[in-house]
Amino acid sequence: MHQLPAFQPAVVVIGAGPAGLTAAHELTRRGRAVTVLEADDVVGGISRTVEREGWRFDIGGHRFFTKVPAVEAWWHEVLGEDFLSRPRLSRILYAGTLFDYPLKPMNALRNLGPVEAVRCVSSYLAAQVRPPRDQSHFEGWVSARFGRRLYGMFFKTYTEKVWGIPATDIQADWAAQRIKDLSLGTAILHALRPGRSATKVTTLIDRFQYPRTGPGLMWERATERVRAGGGTVQLCSTVTRIERDEDGVVAVDVRTTDAAGRTGGQERLPVGELISSMPLPELVLAMDPPAPEHVQEAARGLSHRDFLTVALVVPESAGFPDNWIYVHSPEVRVGRVQNFGSWSPHLVKDGRTCLGLEYFVDEGDDLWESSDDALIALATTELDLLGLVGAGSVERGYVVRMPKAYPVYDEGYDRRVDVIRGWLAEATPNVHPVGRNGMHRYNNADHSMVTAMLTVENILDGAGHDVWAVNVEADYHEEAAVADADGPGTGRPADQTEVTAAALGTGRSAPVRPRRRPRVA
Ligand SMILES: Cc1cc2nc3c(=O)[nH]c(=O)nc-3n(C[C@H](O)[C@H](O)[C@H](O)COP(=O)(O)OP(=O)(O)OC[C@H]3O[C@@H](n4cnc5c(N)ncnc54)[C@H](O)[C@@H]3O)c2cc1C
Repeated sequence: MHQLPAFQPAVVVIGAGPAGLTAAHELTRRGRAVTVLEADDVVGGISRTVEREGWRFDIGGHRFFTKVPAVEAWWHEVLGEDFLSRPRLSRILYAGTLFDYPLKPMNALRNLGPVEAVRCVSSYLAAQVRPPRDQSHFEGWVSARFGRRLYGMFFKTYTEKVWGIPATDIQADWAAQRIKDLSLGTAILHALRPGRSATKVTTLIDRFQYPRTGPGLMWERATERVRAGGGTVQLCSTVTRIERDEDGVVAVDVRTTDAAGRTGGQERLPVGELISSMPLPELVLAMDPPAPEHVQEAARGLSHRDFLTVALVVPESAGFPDNWIYVHSPEVRVGRVQNFGSWSPHLVKDGRTCLGLEYFVDEGDDLWESSDDALIALATTELDLLGLVGAGSVERGYVVRMPKAYPVYDEGYDRRVDVIRGWLAEATPNVHPVGRNGMHRYNNADHSMVTAMLTVENILDGAGHDVWAVNVEADYHEEAAVADADGPGTGRPADQTEVTAAALGTGRSAPVRPRRRPRVA
């Protein structure tokens, strides 16, 4: 890395997640001074690896997969030998049976048995003859392509769990983005033609890359490199106010805390260029003088879906071979179950693995507010009821709450983002929103990184890239065949669950369902 010249205006980066650290890395690589301000006491943002009593687990499982060569090269440069290639297995648990994921219609119809299969195909044919009148929402769009019966089994519950709203309130463009032009008819046709893939989407990939001890390792190493290159990464430092004048942003106020969250102090940091991965609405609302009322209103209108994970420690032998299992059963609130021992053998400790039970929540709802003990008890009961792992095998548990895991694509979100973009470009041209929440985009880590890479080229080279043109491609996500979830495009995030309307927010803590081991297809 270069010697840093002292005279250039300071580049300040808000957030030490994938986007912020990529920006900082590229800046220091090119000899530019940078200060990263991170509110939390760890790096990695949503892509962090949480560590509790020596156990390491993800906020959700984080696959490293990209079609962008620069990102692929970056990951290898940063992690070298510690970047593993891992086999992938993920299935859907529905009605006590494990189905292939991505959903393969022939496998699904076989597993459902002849009677149910006939009902599903009839329901599909009925939808061809008489398509749902309203296909502007998720339910209508999917039912038209798969029939109401398959929709009810494999799309509705999980999607509603993820987003926490009825599927009729989720816009069809999300389904279109995730499922593309697939329908039951085309899928069966493809499956019957040898050499043709039923769902030619990237979710079919059977291997993925993964850092040896979890995604956080990537961001811990990136931080070391930024610091070695002369950059500063300051943890426990929350940007609370963004000061601007008629030309743009001139400084940020930073509140520092200790690891226990106690406020330590307040400092003002001058800014030449500001790269921001903090949530877009918070960026706008931190402006001083404040943004015009209509811009603030647009910011207040953007919302997020939150997430919590309960990690349960069980003997490795009690785990399952899947990296994760989608839980489509409506009678439990859990949406997806990870087995981190299947992600990396280095996450197995003392013959034990961590299972991550994922719940899609809203900050302040009954699950979010439940005590850790109550959540661990709920997760243990649900794991047992699903027949995945008996309650007696659970040795201990940990809870991690992650606010703003998903930017919500509800009606009008795009117009609100446009209002904010337009105002930022005009009033604060030295502010550069990047990343996922930073741009209110359903970006995976690779696209979050690309926005940062392009931004650095804009700042250093005047490259003129349109960073907002970096988009979310359906193929990257885990949602294609069941519209699952780290990517919504609708009303709310769809990372992975589907609870019926009743399930989220009822306060019901345990399902009432006879335990039975899933039938492995
Ligand atoms: C359940 C789940 C599963 C996922 N799975 C995958 C996957 O398999 N593969 C994949 O590529 N991607 C996956 N993603 C997406 C991935 O996590 C994100 O794309 C990525 O973390 C976004 O990076 P970012 O830097 O833009 O934002 P973040 O990771 O959100 O980082 C932003 C950082 O900014 C900090 N911050 C916020 N406000 C302030 C402030 N005021 N002052 C200072 N700091 C602040 C935050 O603390 C945070 O550390 C998944 C996401 C979820 C929720």
